[in-house]
Amino acid sequence: MTRHSLDAGPVITLTVDDCWKTHAHSFNQAFDSTSLRGVFYVIAGFVGREVNGFEFVEWDALRQMSKQGHEIGSHSFMHGRSMLDLRTKAVQLFRLVRSKGLARSVRLTRALLGLAEEYPGTHLRPEEEVAMSKGVIEKELGRPCKSYSYPGGEPTPELMNLARDTGYTSARTIRPGFNNSRHFEPYRLRCQVWDAWTTARIADKWVDKAINQNLWLIEVFHAMNLRHYPYSCSESALKEHLSHIRSKQGEIDNLTVSETIEQIQGNLPSGSPFKQFPEASDQFN
Ligand SMILES: [Zn+2]
Repeated sequence: MTRHSLDAGPVITLTVDDCWKTHAHSFNQAFDSTSLRGVFYVIAGFVGREVNGFEFVEWDALRQMSKQGHEIGSHSFMHGRSMLDLRTKAVQLFRLVRSKGLARSVRLTRALLGLAEEYPGTHLRPEEEVAMSKGVIEKELGRPCKSYSYPGGEPTPELMNLARDTGYTSARTIRPGFNNSRHFEPYRLRCQVWDAWTTARIADKWVDKAINQNLWLIEVFHAMNLRHYPYSCSESALKEHLSHIRSKQGEIDNLTVSETIEQIQGNLPSGSPFKQFPEASDQFN
C-alpha cells in the first residue's frame, strides 16, 4: 500500500461461500490465473467430507490456497442455523432438477435438508457453530481465522455480537450493497451476490461504482457452471469480469476481508463505534 493511511482507496474482495470441492477449485484457479486473491468461507465440519452426495473442499487444498495468499474464513461448523435457507435452496433445487429424474431430485433435496443429520454433532448451538469452526480452521491451517460469513446471510443482533465476542474481526452477510468506512459495520458487511443471471457487464458496473465512490465492494460466489443452480455463475462471465478487475489495477485494490478490515481500522480514529449495531442503513445499496 503506497497510499496515505487516511486516504485508503476503493477495494474489491472476492469471496466464495460453502466451498463445494470442485467449485472451490474452479474459483481458486480462476483467481490465480488472473493473480487475484479471494476469501474462501468454509463450513468447517464438512471440509474434506462428502455429505449426502456433496463433496467439500479438503484441508490440504485450503492450506495451499492459504499459502498462495487467499484467506480462509468460517461459514460456520455445519451451516446449522440456516435450515430455512437450506430448505429454500432445496425447494429451488427440487424444482430445477426435476428434469434430471426423481431419484436425483430426491437425493439433492435430502442432501440439503439432511446435512445436519449426517453429522454427529447435530443441533449445535449458535455459539458452537461460530466458535468450533474458528477453532478447527485455526488448528488445521495454523493461522488465525478472522472472518466469518453467516449461513443464510441475515444475522440477528445476537449473532453479530457472537461473531465479535468469538474474536472474528468481521462477518459478512448477503445483504446487497457496498461498504463504506464512514458507516462501517464490520459485523454486517454487505456484498453483491453472483447468480445465474449475473453478467460481466453487471459485475463490472459494481467495480466501476466502487472506484467512483471510493467504496469497498465484496462479491460473493457459490458455484461455477452448475446447471440448474440459481447461485451458480457462468465461467465465461466470471473470467471476463476478472479481466476487467485486472484492467483497473491501480484504481482499486484487491484485498482479502481481514486485510481490508485492518486497513479501515487503522484509518479510523480510536474509539470508533465498533461495538454498536444501530439499525441498518440502506443508504449504500
Ligand atoms: Zn452457505
